[in-house]
Amino acid sequence: MKEKAKLWLSNRDYDKAKFRKVAGRYFHNNHLEDFISMHSDRFEFETIGTSVEHRNIYGLQIGSGSKKVLMWSQMHGNESTTTKAVLDFLNSIAEDVENLYNKSLLEETSLYIIPVLNPDGAANYTRVNANNVDLNRDMQDLSQPESRLLMKVYREFQPDFCLNLHDQRTIFSAGETNLPAILSFLTPSSDIDRSITGARKDSMSLIAGIVKDLKDELGERIGRYDDGFNINCAGDTFQSLGTPTILFEAGHYPGDYNRDVTRKFIFKALRSCLEQIMNGQSPDHRQYLKIPENAKCFRDVILRNVNIEGDQKDILIQFKETLVHDRIRFVPVIEGIHKDSVLFGHREIDAACKKISLMEEGEISENVVVNKIFLNDEIFELNPQ
Ligand SMILES: [Zn+2]
Repeated sequence: MKEKAKLWLSNRDYDKAKFRKVAGRYFHNNHLEDFISMHSDRFEFETIGTSVEHRNIYGLQIGSGSKKVLMWSQMHGNESTTTKAVLDFLNSIAEDVENLYNKSLLEETSLYIIPVLNPDGAANYTRVNANNVDLNRDMQDLSQPESRLLMKVYREFQPDFCLNLHDQRTIFSAGETNLPAILSFLTPSSDIDRSITGARKDSMSLIAGIVKDLKDELGERIGRYDDGFNINCAGDTFQSLGTPTILFEAGHYPGDYNRDVTRKFIFKALRSCLEQIMNGQSPDHRQYLKIPENAKCFRDVILRNVNIEGDQKDILIQFKETLVHDRIRFVPVIEGIHKDSVLFGHREIDAACKKISLMEEGEISENVVVNKIFLNDEIFELNPQ
């Protein structure tokens, strides 16, 4: 019997593979083009089309195997973690083609990779494209050049599997718990009844296998999304065309607003998924149903027990990601003020009934920016960087 490739997931191996020239949340075509030119002797990227603002959209095919996998990242322009993990993955192949995993991956599979599907959104740090359209709601209308391109690649490449790569917000917990969903997955529905089709079973099995492989490191901190059907989404569209499709979502690891830790877990999840595809070995699909469904139990910061005009309240704060001079700033904004909030803060500060005031002039109320606050006379900086 042919020897199966061994999973290659140690942190030390990842450290070697990591493409260190990119860091932080702001990733756009210039970064990708640096990667492409650095690896031009190894990978033949092609320009497969252009965006609304005429930026190039790149694609890469590697491997010569019969199992075809199409993956695309940054269809939401401000969701770059999975793109960086994809570059780490390609870097790991470029650095060590003789590695058993890499060798058998390139023999058993053919991969088509679109690292940045929405380069305008990436440059402008927006979810939507330059026409203000969410490409992941445009897969039936195909009104935008970027979504048309994804469909064209899908039709021509005829993948056996699709991987749809995204970032999720910091609010998600794995179930109604105080465990953040560091990664989330979904096997999208292919019809309104959410039928468990053959394609869905296959993608469920793959997700169950990824969760099993990452269990030691992430424990229960992996969630799955609600599978409500929306045919306008890429996943639902491809799944309804019979192609097993997996949505990957990079989530929040405590304190890691640059998502450097999550990037590593996405890399490992990709390796796990592709290993299962090349070996044709995955757990029973029903294991997928044991993954907790995501809930929205987190906020970035919660100030507990603040004295507001004699009342004791909790102040919920979310960071607004803002592009300033080529960097993403996390601007703390008051989202709500409640009594005894049942939510969890990634950071919690107990004000112990002290009075709150802002560093700048202004009232404590919703939508107000709170970079620095006073609790009585003590200063707290709420910005994470
Ligand atoms: Zn997304």
